[in-house]
Amino acid sequence: MSVEGRTTDSKILQAVCETLAPRMVVEPMAFHGAGARDLGVAEGVAGAIESAASPAERRQFWLALRLIDHPVVNALMAGKPRRFRQMTLEARERMLQDWARSRFGLRRKAFQTLKRLALFHQYALIPEGTTANPHWEVMGYPGPVEPHRVPKRIRPLAISADTTLDADVVVVGSGAGGGVVAAELAVAGQQVIVLEKGGYYNEADFDGAEWNAMGCLYEKQGILTSDDVGIVVLAGSGLGGGTTINWTTSLPTPGHVLQEWERELGISGATGAEWQASTQEVCDRLHVNTDSPENRHNQLLRIASERLGYRWRTLPRNVHGCSDCGYCGYGCRFGAKQSTLVTYLQDAFDRGAQIITECHADRVTYAAGRVTGVEASTNGHALRIRSPRVVVAAGSIHSPALLKRSGLTNPHIGRHLHLHPVPAAFGIFDEPVRSWQGTMQAVACNQFEDLEGGYGFVIEVPPVHPGLMALGVGWQDARSHKELMLQAENTAFFFALVRDRDGGRVDVDRQGRPILKYSLSSYDARHVIRGGQECVRLLAAAGAHTIGGLYNNLAPYSARSEGDLEGHLRGIEQRGYIVNDMTLFSAHQMSSCRMAGSAALGAVNPEGESYEVRNLFVADASALPSATGVNPMISIMTLAHRVAQAVKART
Ligand SMILES: Cc1cc2nc3c(=O)[nH]c(=O)nc-3n(C[C@H](O)[C@H](O)[C@H](O)COP(=O)(O)OP(=O)(O)OC[C@H]3O[C@@H](n4cnc5c(N)ncnc54)[C@H](O)[C@@H]3O)c2cc1C
Repeated sequence: MSVEGRTTDSKILQAVCETLAPRMVVEPMAFHGAGARDLGVAEGVAGAIESAASPAERRQFWLALRLIDHPVVNALMAGKPRRFRQMTLEARERMLQDWARSRFGLRRKAFQTLKRLALFHQYALIPEGTTANPHWEVMGYPGPVEPHRVPKRIRPLAISADTTLDADVVVVGSGAGGGVVAAELAVAGQQVIVLEKGGYYNEADFDGAEWNAMGCLYEKQGILTSDDVGIVVLAGSGLGGGTTINWTTSLPTPGHVLQEWERELGISGATGAEWQASTQEVCDRLHVNTDSPENRHNQLLRIASERLGYRWRTLPRNVHGCSDCGYCGYGCRFGAKQSTLVTYLQDAFDRGAQIITECHADRVTYAAGRVTGVEASTNGHALRIRSPRVVVAAGSIHSPALLKRSGLTNPHIGRHLHLHPVPAAFGIFDEPVRSWQGTMQAVACNQFEDLEGGYGFVIEVPPVHPGLMALGVGWQDARSHKELMLQAENTAFFFALVRDRDGGRVDVDRQGRPILKYSLSSYDARHVIRGGQECVRLLAAAGAHTIGGLYNNLAPYSARSEGDLEGHLRGIEQRGYIVNDMTLFSAHQMSSCRMAGSAALGAVNPEGESYEVRNLFVADASALPSATGVNPMISIMTLAHRVAQAVKART
């Protein structure tokens, strides 16, 4: 790309960002009028695309911008033979609305990409030379917090030249699954090496700044989506994986799901005492307890459930000495969250495990049907590890990609990807809710967990900081989006965690990078729509005066001026599910190398061992036989604990 071409692209991006978030003052409060240009939003977005997107995604991103600016395209699509950059602000806004509501999927996809990236940056960025985003004060958002200056208690092994190492076991990935396996084997006296592609951050680094945390602790710096952009996919990437940034809800696998695994997928023992013992051991190590107080956000969900006569439950959490600050999604600065960082990985390190961070496992090696080690790259150096046993725990996005790059061909590798798709709704109250403050998840409404055949959804609340809110809520026009953001302090969010039955898949591109293909089946889409409706109904029961789903093309419901809630809910149903009409989220990726009783049904056996390569194990969410229907960390750790016993027994 020529310098001139890149300059033109930057100008188009600048114009799009300024249209989504122009300078304006919103009455009655003198909301700080900063627009995208004042904050350097376009530069931030371009930086994220350049550093986190794949080459194909980068090409698509810049191509979409050029199409938005193309006079011929604009003449054909909107009857306006003008460049986007040269239109008035009003005309540009109308054009983005057209893209958001277009019947062409590619235009909605382009709009969602730009809208989410620009508005996340608009409300999360801290402009250079300042300490806060200018919107935060008036939004009532306190901004970053003071990290706790404690020393780093794990010392990763530094690799400064091409290196070959030997180990009894290599564990790829340090999240929920990898952490447990590493500790179990190190404590059993085995020489363990853990490879983690992310960096090592601890309490001294966790300042609660959304933008920093996304860049350091999240997969693809937080910009990962399904390939059609329909689902925003959040996953951890750093030492501790998802457990470093997750929301601490610690639920065992539901009994009916364990029965299904035993009955339909041949996981003998799933309903037995040993499985329960593994769950108990994991919960003990993580200090799982129900001592956390409800914050206002969770209280609203409980009160609404009670008013509607819906079942609800208290959520156990893996915290110890928690001060309920609400910033856990960006790393716990108190070390109170019992992530693998402070539990299992520390145990492993204390027993001699070598932990190598910023180290990408490129492929697993094997000969004559037996695993021989791992080839990895770290800081520009090649690392070869010879090991008679390898445990892959790189998460449901990367484990199948690693196995495919290594030449494994079992057809279940990459298939059955479950995402627990999440529709959500926001509700504005007359009082502060401060969804970002206090216990993140204290209660869940489980009235709808079994709508049909063991599938349905549970409703929970998320901790929502400004960037996440800005990218999630719909954009109908710049003013209404800004007005909504202004009310962030009084806004609650309820979401439905849908147990998806049908799932998608993980493919790899030519370079072996994962691509997430996921379309909702009509069965799962039914539950997504119903889940969204129930979130709206619960918010209304809780007393919200304005309620909306995460749609770009559906105005929120106003209890004050409309009063016909059932009519609004029918409208949601009639609309159905249209990709990129609304924003869906996923924080739970599962089953992409599923465990099953035979190679005809799964990628690994019930001990977690590959059906193709002896002594190659998988021990993370990708090995879960199907979606758990509840927040999956404890299920993953239970599975990993069981796989670790099988690995221990293998010489
Ligand atoms: C925002 C958020 C909130 C959540 N809240 C909850 C909750 O409250 N309760 C709950 O039960 N679950 C929650 N989850 C989900 C839970 O954290 C994950 O399901 C779980 O961490 C997945 O475990 P895993 O071992 O499969 O993978 P991960 O924990 O994701 O770990 C995989 C690790 O492997 C590394 N890796 C990947 N590829 C390679 C490679 N090639 N080489 C080296 N390393 C590699 C990754 O960087 C990552 O660190 C949440 C998730 C998110 C994102």
